[in-house]
Amino acid sequence: MSSVEGADTVVRRWLALALESISAHEDELGRLDAAAGDGDHGATMVRGLRAANAALSTATGSAGDLLSAAGGAFADAAGGASGALVGALLTTTGRTLGNGPYDTASVVKALQAALTMVMRLGRAQPGDKTLIDALKPFVDALAAQPADAPLSVAWRAALPAAMAGAEATQSMIARRGRSAKLGERSLGHPDPGAVSLVLLLQAADTVFATS
Ligand code: ADP
Ligand code: MG
Repeated sequence: MSSVEGADTVVRRWLALALESISAHEDELGRLDAAAGDGDHGATMVRGLRAANAALSTATGSAGDLLSAAGGAFADAAGGASGALVGALLTTTGRTLGNGPYDTASVVKALQAALTMVMRLGRAQPGDKTLIDALKPFVDALAAQPADAPLSVAWRAALPAAMAGAEATQSMIARRGRSAKLGERSLGHPDPGAVSLVLLLQAADTVFATS
C-alpha cells in the first residue's frame, strides 16, 4: 500500500467507500437477487458494511487487525449466506496479513487463504454461480502479477478478471445458496454476490489510486 498513508488508513477509507458504492447499488443488487433468490442481497451488504464501519470507529491496531474486526462486525450484523462468507473473507484476509508487510506478495497470500476459507465454508466451486466466480479469477490474476509490482498497479491489472468473472455468471445456473433451489431461473442474470464483490474490489482500487 502507500508509503504516504498508513495501511490502517487505507482500510478505513476502503470500507467507507465500499459502503458508499454498495449503497448506491443497493436496489440493483436486490433486483439481481430477486431474480432467483430472496431479493435481500443489497440490504444485507449495506447492513454489514454499516456495522463494519461502525466497528472501525472505535477499533485500533494494524490494517490486519482492522480487517479482522470489520469482518466480525460484518458477519454479526449482515446475516444470510453472504454475511457469513464476506465476513469470513474480511477476517481471514486480516488475520493472514497481520501486522504486515502490506505488499503485493502478502496481499496475494492473504486473499488465497481467504478464498480457500470461503470455498470451504460455502462448499462452492468455480462455476456454481457465486461470488467465488469473481473472487477466484481476481486472486489468480493478482498472483500472476510480478511480486515486486506496487499493490495499486497489480490490483488494477487484476480487476478486469474479476469483472469478466462476474459477467460470466450470467450464463451459469446457480448450484449453491438460496438461488440453487430455483435452478434455471438464475440464467441470464449475473450472480448478485459476484457483482457486489466486484464493487468492493473497485472501491479498493479507487483508494489505492488516491492514497
Ligand atoms: P442469502 O442467500 O442468505 O439471501 P444474500 O442474498 O445476501 O444471502 O447473498 C447471496 C449471495 O451469496 C449469492 O449471490 C452468492 O454470491 C453468495 N453465496 C450464497 N451461497 C454461497 C455459497 N455456498 N458459497 C459461496 N457464495 C455463496
Ligand atoms: Mg438473498
